[in-house]
Amino acid sequence: MKFERPFNFYAGPAILPFEVMKDIKDELLNFRNTGLSVMEISHRSKEFDTVVDETIALVRDLLAVPDDYSVLFIQGGASIHFAMIPLNFLGDGTADYVDTGAWAKKAIKEAENLGKVNIAASSEDKNYSYIPDTFNFTENAKYVHITGNETINGTQYKEFPNTGNVPLIADMSSEIMSRKIDVSKFGMIYAGAQKNISIAGVSLVILKNSLLDNANNSLPTMLKYKTYVEKKSMFNTPPVFAIYVMNKVLNWLKKNGGVESIEKINEQKAKLLYDVIDSGDFYIGTADKNCRSNMNVTFRLKDEELEKKFIEEAKNEGFIGVKGHRSVGGCRASIYNAMPLEGVKYLAEFMKDFQNKNS
Ligand SMILES: *Cc1c(COP(=O)(O)O)cnc(C)c1O
Repeated sequence: MKFERPFNFYAGPAILPFEVMKDIKDELLNFRNTGLSVMEISHRSKEFDTVVDETIALVRDLLAVPDDYSVLFIQGGASIHFAMIPLNFLGDGTADYVDTGAWAKKAIKEAENLGKVNIAASSEDKNYSYIPDTFNFTENAKYVHITGNETINGTQYKEFPNTGNVPLIADMSSEIMSRKIDVSKFGMIYAGAQKNISIAGVSLVILKNSLLDNANNSLPTMLKYKTYVEKKSMFNTPPVFAIYVMNKVLNWLKKNGGVESIEKINEQKAKLLYDVIDSGDFYIGTADKNCRSNMNVTFRLKDEELEKKFIEEAKNEGFIGVKGHRSVGGCRASIYNAMPLEGVKYLAEFMKDFQNKNS
């Protein structure tokens, strides 16, 4: 390997800014002059309470979250929301779901266990290679659920559906903070943190408070969004280390110009790889060009043997994790916020090189 440290293209848990990890290492044994580690102090201590306040403020600032929304930290990953959303908001109504791939399907499965679901659109007919642009919405649906970025299939909404007065709920696990969004267009946004904003153990939720007006109040305490809103996500012990890491990552993002700056770099990074893919027929992009993901670049080579060779040689060169998800095969380079432009440039060069040697 020609690099000091490999470039990490894993889909999740995923790359963290190196600077952030060094910073965490430096203060691991002495957090903010307490003489203790952040891992061992009380979540009710003034020092940790400040971390929570700061992290909420950073989320609000970076995404321009309107005042009538709450910012929450919830354990259970993004997947807990697949169940919590219908438990809280579905009741005896109908929810609309857009089926764009593996993650959408998981959300749909949980909702179907709990109530009435209408599939408003699906791209299953073409192997989830695109994002539908026409929707068969239910009148007075309780909510519409979409998956902003399909991590496995490599597709991403370029424009979000207009759902009128029906709350739009989006799983943004693999794209949160990667591009500017208008939060006011959503009823709720949620994201597992381990792809773009922290480590595994916490999910971030941005919730319009008015959604609680009609929420189910007879759920177990821990499964009610209301509990997290009322207790500032600290009804019980929150995942303190994961929230602390989120604080660090968001500070890093802010220092580097915020979401607007990173969005431009993310576009540049994705273009580098898609340009190589489009330069011939050696690499075959699996997503339609108009809905390709800027976070997860998915492609195939002419056969599985060549893919295996590609993944192996990439690894030996220092590009880790370019293997596609086990459910779809192929190759995938995940290029989240923390992946430096330089790393993608090197990967693009390697891909061109590999193409020259193997075609
Ligand atoms: C990774 C991922 C999830 C699952 O997140 P967990 O935190 O493991 O539950 C859900 N949705 C999307 C879009 C993802 O990329």
